[in-house]
Amino acid sequence: MEYLSERVKSLSVSQTLAMAQKSRELTSKGIDIISLSLGEPDFNTPDYVKEAAKKAIDDNYSKYPPVPGYADLREAISRKFKEENGITYSADQVIVSAGAKHSLINVILSIVNPEDEVIILAPYWVSYYDQIIFAQGKPVVIKAKLENDFKIKPEQLEAAIMKKTRLIIFNSPSNPTGMVYDRKEMEKIARVVEKHEGVFLISDEIYEDIIFTGEHVSMASFDFILDRVITVNGVSKGYAMTGWRIGYIGAPLWIARACNKLQGQFTSGVCSIAQRAALAAIQGKGESQKIMKAAFLRRRDLICGLLKEIRGIKVSIPQGAFYVMPDISFYLGKSDGETKIENSDDLALYLLDKARVATVGGVAFGAPECIRISYATSDDLLIEAVKRIKGALEKLN
Ligand code: PMP
Ligand code: GLU
Repeated sequence: MEYLSERVKSLSVSQTLAMAQKSRELTSKGIDIISLSLGEPDFNTPDYVKEAAKKAIDDNYSKYPPVPGYADLREAISRKFKEENGITYSADQVIVSAGAKHSLINVILSIVNPEDEVIILAPYWVSYYDQIIFAQGKPVVIKAKLENDFKIKPEQLEAAIMKKTRLIIFNSPSNPTGMVYDRKEMEKIARVVEKHEGVFLISDEIYEDIIFTGEHVSMASFDFILDRVITVNGVSKGYAMTGWRIGYIGAPLWIARACNKLQGQFTSGVCSIAQRAALAAIQGKGESQKIMKAAFLRRRDLICGLLKEIRGIKVSIPQGAFYVMPDISFYLGKSDGETKIENSDDLALYLLDKARVATVGGVAFGAPECIRISYATSDDLLIEAVKRIKGALEKLN
């Protein structure tokens, strides 16, 4: 007999991780799967970061670290916010967590009460929705259309803000669409937030280093809303350090303190070695990032070009991150005589089964007419994957 809590029952399994797991299982059975499901750079962590971790082991960084992170790491992050993002967060306002995912749940649990509304912009990253549910908040979804490059209009945000709205989660560059808001668009959104006292905004900037055109703008750099923005970031994507599990926030002091309190009861801070590695990463920005960005740009052009040649597929060209979210609604209701495609999750499963390519269906991203493709893999595999996808889609009528 199982006695699971309602809280755990209310959570769905992360679809990005579930699809990645499914493709690993098939691969381990000897099936040739091309995985375009999990969003992680296919590069190795830079050598200078690995050296710092090895040194930290030799230097006996083996005791419990301070709960909010080592002082020098928090100082370095505070400096990074100032120099690269134009935001003034003192080191006290910085909290280091076990990945940006952990930073996000810390913040949500700190400020969302049961029944509070949290606005998310679809297509949204899967975990936002479930983290809000876990905190007993109510996700309110605003939909951005492919025709508008998957960006919402400020009027849509204004219309969604109600008495119970406590939080908005904003993410540029975006996972899953790869779109990037420019300064003017962001300022308009910031002005909407400014009008509504007691409404806070999480700006998830985890993909800030992977932008192909224009510049990254931080929401908290609009100083008229600085005291209402929580900036989330980390080293996973920009430094190819997904496995090290280091994320961080800059936030108003009272929110940073709350997150520290949560960590004090839940984790006792973050792995000491990974923190020393993250310090080296942040201080040593360099060549490796330029190399990764150039590769992602080349692959973006490659995959978008190939996808556009497939009958019925619509693509908005992503401006950042390493995802593309094609609209596949042309295939809904079609069948290969065996499998009928009712929604994009069915299509993702069909592609896994028939094309041996793992993608993620759009339902969990709030975009049931799309699938998400992560193109953080080699050019050759991308070419082969799209060839297989095309072949499988041609069989649907
Ligand atoms: N936010 C977004 C938009 C992401 O895509 C991810 C990817 N994992 C995260 C947060 C969490 O990153 P981390 O690996 O630091 O937990
Ligand atoms: N963020 C990545 C993705 O969306 C990694 C998986 C996850 O953390 O959910 O695929």
